[in-house]
Amino acid sequence: MPLACIGIGSNQGDPPAQLATALKHLQALPHSQLDRVSRPHRSPPWPPDNPVQQADFLNAVAGLQTTLAPDDLLARLQQIEQQMGRVRRQKWGPRTIDLDILCYGQHRRNSPHLQLPHPHFHRRAFVLQPLAELYPDLRIAGHPVTSWLTRLHRPQPKDDPAPPPSSTSPPTRTTIASSPKPCSPPAATAAMTPR
Ligand code: ADP
Ligand code: MG
Repeated sequence: MPLACIGIGSNQGDPPAQLATALKHLQALPHSQLDRVSRPHRSPPWPPDNPVQQADFLNAVAGLQTTLAPDDLLARLQQIEQQMGRVRRQKWGPRTIDLDILCYGQHRRNSPHLQLPHPHFHRRAFVLQPLAELYPDLRIAGHPVTSWLTRLHRPQPKDDPAPPPSSTSPPTRTTIASSPKPCSPPAATAAMTPR
């Protein structure tokens, strides 16, 4: 069964309670089994130059084994957001709940309503850190999640050509709890590379 990794975020209402409610909804999804859930991570609003004044976010990641097709899964997640009272007012504004598909196995998609992996996954520590905690062997867009995380934390000179990490020499490990379980087989090709 494919493993979909879901990003959960909230900074309105009662974020810990909203995260718990969202997880209950995920648990109740048909043709799906909740596999792992990260601890909550508190993070400032993203992106760092976000002009909207708002509270810090509580974020978590859940691994969901599912046979729902990616579009069906997105529709279900949007239904949950609606049921939980999410109102879309501003881009990157405050929200009661945000549910994103970070990755769905090794699926690649670039349609207007669904991009896989999620277009900003590699720029968000609050996504990469919990993903790496949950699935240290996970590969996204053909590269280990730990490489994306290392890359994010590394100062990046403007003219850095950003070569992909070598598949034979693993990147520096982050100090995270380990519970190895691959999300899905490595992709054969990679258009994206850790920047
Ligand atoms: P964001 O999560 O970027 O803050 P929204 O939750 O308002 O913003 O989502 C905006 C749009 O992003 C949604 O209408 C959805 O169709 C689209 N989208 C594209 N790819 C994904 C994905 N992988 N997961 C969730 N939404 C996605
Ligand atoms: Mg979203």
